[in-house]
Amino acid sequence: MTQSFHPPQRILLGPGPSDVSPRVLEAMGRPTIGHLDPVFVAMMDELKCLLQYAFRTRNELTLPVSAPGSAGMETAFVNLVEPGDSVIVCQNGVFGLRMQENVERCGATAVIVKDEWGQPVDPNKLEDTLKAHPEARTVAFVQSETSTGVESDTRALVEIAHKHDCLAIVDAVTALGGTPVETDDWKIDAIYAGSQKCLSCTPGLAPVSFSEAAAERIRKRRHKVQSWFLDLNLVMAYWGQGAKRSYHHTAPINALYGLHEALVILEEEGIEHAWARHRRNHTALRDGLEAMGLRFLVEPAHRLPQLNAVRVPEGVDEAAVRAALLNDYGIEIGAGLGPLAGKIWRIGLMGHASNQRNVYILLSALEHILGRQGVALERGVALAAAQKRYAQDS
Ligand SMILES: *Cc1c(COP(=O)(O)O)cnc(C)c1O
Repeated sequence: MTQSFHPPQRILLGPGPSDVSPRVLEAMGRPTIGHLDPVFVAMMDELKCLLQYAFRTRNELTLPVSAPGSAGMETAFVNLVEPGDSVIVCQNGVFGLRMQENVERCGATAVIVKDEWGQPVDPNKLEDTLKAHPEARTVAFVQSETSTGVESDTRALVEIAHKHDCLAIVDAVTALGGTPVETDDWKIDAIYAGSQKCLSCTPGLAPVSFSEAAAERIRKRRHKVQSWFLDLNLVMAYWGQGAKRSYHHTAPINALYGLHEALVILEEEGIEHAWARHRRNHTALRDGLEAMGLRFLVEPAHRLPQLNAVRVPEGVDEAAVRAALLNDYGIEIGAGLGPLAGKIWRIGLMGHASNQRNVYILLSALEHILGRQGVALERGVALAAAQKRYAQDS
């Protein structure tokens, strides 16, 4: 007989999923009710308000797509892009490559603005590209490149897009809940996130939000959205405010309880406090890693506090270090992708997992494992550096 599946307890310090709060898991175990039950519909309304809080927006068109972050990306592209359109896609990592795929599958042309992996999107390059492509209607970029640990300047990039009459699509999958995302203040037109990064929920839901200008474009489309499931005109029959709800698809009821609880936790902490916590733990981790002699991939000004891209020292077997962290300590960290494969580790301090205990455990474990691999390091300095930083920051 096949046995029930019991996963081990891990500490998830990779690029996502991150540790899920026990409160979220507990919420997900509550009784399943109907997706049109009035009690459930009232919970959906609360969930929309909580998402508006997280996105810092009043956008009416704010909801969780019933699928992972990638579906949030696809929702933005299939609804805003029409066949024959020209879309400027900024690429400085894995997720910009996927945006190009989305654009081309919509029957549109992607015009690429390229920056090195490890660098932010260069606003001047975007401006030059927009000048050379007056036909472009949309600009897309990633605020928080999880593949490299880089943050781009969303406010500046959106402003340039608008100057050239384009709508701006922003990937905030790793940003939301970890670093400032100001949907209204920065005038973002379409933004999507994921439940499993800094929101500390289980994977499988994609919060999205669309401005009035974006909603207007969706209403005025010349072609039907090619995806029936992600067509917001149809999804809104179920998620729309006030109006009578009608069946579109069966909502992932218990997963939505989980997201509701994750956002209640965020609201209790206060989103600014959550941003500050991510920064404080990043700074302590950074001091500890640097005391051990490790170096970051990204310049300090563009580093994401929730995703630390750390260079693998010369002569170290990077996969063996990750395996030892997992097997001996139950800690998961991420590997490098694409041109950075084998060259970096990606250490996430996201959401619930961004805490002092995890910083200390990871530094101690890394020191032990790197020492075993023959890296010359002084025992105890990493933890001492992190402790000193916490003492200074408190
Ligand atoms: C994780 C991630 C995604 C994809 O989210 P999934 O939930 O894995 O589909 C998209 N963009 C960025 C920046 C991400 O970090």
